[in-house]
Amino acid sequence: MADDSKSGNCTRLAHAGRRPEWTGIEGHPSAVVNPPIWRGSTHLYPDTKALKAATSCNEDGRFFYGRRGSPTQWALADALTGLEPGAAGTMLYPSGVAALAGALLAVLRPGDVLLMTDHAYEPTRALASSLLKDMGVETRWFDPLDPAALEAACCERTRALLLESPGSLSMEMQDIPAACAFARSRGIVTIMDNTWASPLGFAAHSHGVDISVMSLTKHVGGHSDLMMGSASAGKEWYPKLRRMAQLTGQVVSPDDAALALRGLRTMALRLERTAATALELARWLENRSEVARVFCPMLPGSPGHDIWQRDFSGSCGLIGFAFRGGTAEARSAFIDALSLFGIGYSWGGFESLVTPADPGAIRTASPWPPAGMDAADRFAVRLAIGLEDAADLIADLSRGFAAWSAA
Ligand SMILES: *Cc1c(COP(=O)(O)O)cnc(C)c1O
Repeated sequence: MADDSKSGNCTRLAHAGRRPEWTGIEGHPSAVVNPPIWRGSTHLYPDTKALKAATSCNEDGRFFYGRRGSPTQWALADALTGLEPGAAGTMLYPSGVAALAGALLAVLRPGDVLLMTDHAYEPTRALASSLLKDMGVETRWFDPLDPAALEAACCERTRALLLESPGSLSMEMQDIPAACAFARSRGIVTIMDNTWASPLGFAAHSHGVDISVMSLTKHVGGHSDLMMGSASAGKEWYPKLRRMAQLTGQVVSPDDAALALRGLRTMALRLERTAATALELARWLENRSEVARVFCPMLPGSPGHDIWQRDFSGSCGLIGFAFRGGTAEARSAFIDALSLFGIGYSWGGFESLVTPADPGAIRTASPWPPAGMDAADRFAVRLAIGLEDAADLIADLSRGFAAWSAA
């Protein structure tokens, strides 16, 4: 096959992971388009010699036992590695949170200090302040927008840096290349939650990240019917990720891996469409009197847009906005008046979702609302834009604002 790394996103996604030996049999390689679902716990061997050989050979793409997966999972991991220039391999986990835990546990030891961006996904924070703390790992949170705060939080014992950009809920953009360069100069490992942009929108490893984590539940699955996570790393960290995943028994089902592979084929198209609709909605929201600020890095003039434009090649449909004042009842009335937006957590599916958000609720190291925003405007709404038509979504949001004003 041609060198896929130089092809466009849609081409890469159409061909990723489809190795002839995984989509066919001996004598008829590439017999079917998709890697079949290899559902099996036990792997069998023709004789004891082959069993022994399999047992002593702990490598990717080798049969051994169900926990190490089969061609269905290997094809998905291989496809994801192919999307990350600089990655040597990818581990799969039963959820995005499990992937974050797997990456952190692969890196951290008792006595280490972890630096974490203050706008990190809330369950990532919870992991740090409970399990990691009990393990003897100290976490220090820092202001995502202040490079000096990152440096000030750093000490001799700092082992790892957890980044996320844009941040969950607040959509703040971090200067990832600068943070990674700083970390590298101090021998600190960088882990980035790259769920928002995916490797299609942000080439994490090329920008200096050591381990990139993604919740495949979101864009890769894309249809709100599976949960999975991944962590990709280069030659230094991939074997350590792999070892920790094996020690803790991380495995995903072949059925889910096949669904994720199916989702992956159309991911670029879906991201393009949802990002375009999200930007159209952001432009519309920006001009509404009920809106204090739109959180959408693709929107020209919005905070972080310069970083997004410099470092990112894509985006997605996850945006948000802060209400201009108003009561809790009015915010609930807004959400309850929507009919096209499902009320529920998650994002990256084909359908639009809405949740109330208070980006400041979990922060400990930086102010919210940020400078330039009124304290009365701290409450927000998160919108996960799906594949519906923009005009219909705008009409729905208009109904929401009418309910907000009436409440
Ligand atoms: C959803 C999400 C996760 C966790 O993924 P799950 O698959 O739901 O466990 C991690 N990071 C971010 C930014 C997310 O939005």
